Amino acid sequence: MRKEKRVLPEYYTPIYQMAVTQFERAACKLDLDPNIWERFVVPKRALMVSVPVRMDDLSVKVFRGYRVHHDNTMGPSKGGIRYSPSVNLGEVCALAMWMTWKCALVGLPFGGAKGGIACDPTVMSRNELQKMTRRYTAEIIQMIGPDVDVVAPDMGTNEQIMAWFMDTYSQFKGYAVPEIATGKPISIGGSVGRTEATGKGLVFVIMEAFKYLKIDPDKKSVAIQGFGNVGFHTARLLYEAGCRVVAVSDVKSGLYNKDGLDIPAINEYIKKNKFMEGFKGGDHISNEDLLEIHCDVLIPAAISEQITEENAGRLKCRIVCEGANGPTRPEADPILNERGIFLIPDVLANSGGVTVSYFEWVQGLQRLFWKEKEVYEQLGEVMRSAFRNVLELSLSRNVDMRMAALMLGINKISEAKLARGLFP
Ligand code: NAD
Repeated sequence: MRKEKRVLPEYYTPIYQMAVTQFERAACKLDLDPNIWERFVVPKRALMVSVPVRMDDLSVKVFRGYRVHHDNTMGPSKGGIRYSPSVNLGEVCALAMWMTWKCALVGLPFGGAKGGIACDPTVMSRNELQKMTRRYTAEIIQMIGPDVDVVAPDMGTNEQIMAWFMDTYSQFKGYAVPEIATGKPISIGGSVGRTEATGKGLVFVIMEAFKYLKIDPDKKSVAIQGFGNVGFHTARLLYEAGCRVVAVSDVKSGLYNKDGLDIPAINEYIKKNKFMEGFKGGDHISNEDLLEIHCDVLIPAAISEQITEENAGRLKCRIVCEGANGPTRPEADPILNERGIFLIPDVLANSGGVTVSYFEWVQGLQRLFWKEKEVYEQLGEVMRSAFRNVLELSLSRNVDMRMAALMLGINKISEAKLARGLFP
């Protein structure tokens, strides 16, 4: 028999392979239908676009952009837009797949998507960012829509970028379409509580983990890699809850103080100086060292692949709570598990962001807006119930929390896919 040589697709990069490995481990445990399996390891559709931008020096720079849908079985696909130099097709495809499992796990009627542009937003002017965002929106317009695919902020993007995105889409339609983007400013239909939602969600699950592990939260020490939307709000909320935030970092450097850092003061310093480098209230620490300091909770909240086979044995924390997407390599998972480190996986831990994005989308469709109390109560309910479901499966099947979370998410979509059948 002639053996066919398997050619790997363009998106099969190490990070995509990592998402597939995680999926396959859970699919094996679930004894997943092989036909469904085949459909889950590939993105549903992927678009690559060129985004030409007239820069402030009048030269034209062409950026590479992407939008990927991994799944839309349960409803529109949903996922953030990332502006970072590392963005490539493989990264966007992996992030889209994780979005699918995350939405299913917390019970949202969305599939997974992701988008991004390979660029460095920290060196671009407001004017350049606006032009790039508007042109990117126009380039991917055939792939998005409030019932098709809804965007949100991710690394390197924020509510201003979402406002430009929503405005551009609305200009094409001729009327305001707030439900095309979530994480928008409140003045154009954003939801109260969306900005801090991911951090708030992280805090809900950390408190659940404390309860389960019988840890008293008072003065517990926390180290956080990344001080952007997720890292900062998590740090602020834990600081306000009485925890000691002993280490934080951004792309350039980190800070350490065993007695606890002054989080509001660091935030004020960053507003003036862009980065935390030079802040006087702590000792300098590198991003690598931050991962290995003694603490109760370690929160990677920046980029992927930070906890690896190489450093997993040196972590000195009781809990790892993944704010970032994909911060732990699959080889590191069994090491953490054997060492008794309690892992709250990304698809569970950072799902507060997409949950409040869902609330925002619903409010936009209904033109009926909720109060902060309602948003937080509902978010708390979703996060606590997802945590309990994952923990229960993890204990009953004797698997780690990542495996349990993926099993729950994958199983839910599989059932829906089987019920819908295969077209044609
Ligand atoms: P952000 O752009 O607001 O902040 C990113 C932070 O990470 C910044 O402090 C930046 O300086 C730092 N950083 C960037 N590159 C780094 C590097 N190489 N090493 C160390 N630090 C680095 O981004 P964000 O929205 O906070 O997203 C952070 C992570 O959380 C991403 O993995 C993202 O996918 C994930 N996430 C975000 C949301 C959300 O609602 N924003 C929701 C779920 C998951």
